Amino acid sequence: MIFNSPWDDYRHRNGQPCKVLKGFYEPDEEHDQEVLPMYEIRFDDGEVIDAYPEELQAYCPECGESCYVDGADPDWRICNGCGISWTVEIIRP
Ligand SMILES: [Zn+2]
Repeated sequence: MIFNSPWDDYRHRNGQPCKVLKGFYEPDEEHDQEVLPMYEIRFDDGEVIDAYPEELQAYCPECGESCYVDGADPDWRICNGCGISWTVEIIRP
């Protein structure tokens, strides 16, 4: 995955590769229901952070264009290029 955040907190990380370590789908001590789902990701230099689905750039398996999150399911993406809908299964551990 490529990290690409619309927010400022980790803007310096934009464009960097990251690996999804695990997903948070149920509330726990550190994650309220409102913020879920989130993902624990690790950058190549070892830093581990929590990321929102919108911060994980996905590319279309058909044409390679970037895709955006559609609706309530963060793994469901729509391609900006060819317009197909698909599921980012790579995110789900
Ligand atoms: Zn496409």
